[in-house]
Amino acid sequence: MKLTYHGHSCFELSGSRRVLIDPFISGNPLAKVRAEELEPEVLLVTHGHEDHLGDAVSIAKRTRPEIGVVHELAVFFQEQGVEAVGMNIYGSAELAGVKVTLLPALHSSSYGGRYMGSACGYLVEMDGTRVYHTGDTGLFGDMRLIGELFSPQVMLVPVGDRYTMSPGLAVKAVEMVKPEVVIPMHYRTFPVLAQSIGAFTEGAEKAGAKVVVLEPGESYEV
Ligand code: ZN
Repeated sequence: MKLTYHGHSCFELSGSRRVLIDPFISGNPLAKVRAEELEPEVLLVTHGHEDHLGDAVSIAKRTRPEIGVVHELAVFFQEQGVEAVGMNIYGSAELAGVKVTLLPALHSSSYGGRYMGSACGYLVEMDGTRVYHTGDTGLFGDMRLIGELFSPQVMLVPVGDRYTMSPGLAVKAVEMVKPEVVIPMHYRTFPVLAQSIGAFTEGAEKAGAKVVVLEPGESYEV
């Protein structure tokens, strides 16, 4: 599986299918790709905040991917004329042959003042590789359970502080989940987010994970 980082919390997982998560492209000053260039077959959105929902509706209207999201977000997509499968926390669905499980996240979720269901994370299983995208989240004890239940090889974790975990708390998350590889996200996009994550890199490596830092546009092969 190839993971491509498009900045902020947006990742594209390419294997037997192309899975796109949290496509915040047009509003992202660091994105190197244009939303019109993305051709996902599966589209996932962790929660309704604009820096995650981003270009999801326009991309979905153009490429008609299979979408699996928390129930309230699914209703929102359907209102925009986009098909979406509604799910809820710890439930799974198969989308274009890719197994997706919705996981808890400790965060809020709204769009234009409208409640958009729980904020979530995802466990994505494709071609034998399990990727845990935590979404925006604070630290929570179920991360240990998620590590035990799913043994994700790759964890995508926010480290930017203010709206999510700080670099230091994200180390604790890595200690609980125990992934082989961890890729930091949700930092540096805006001035209020952490600009440097040296403490995370050092701590996560001490916890036994390989830290892969990707610049927007860069990829990593698992
Ligand atoms: Zn958020």
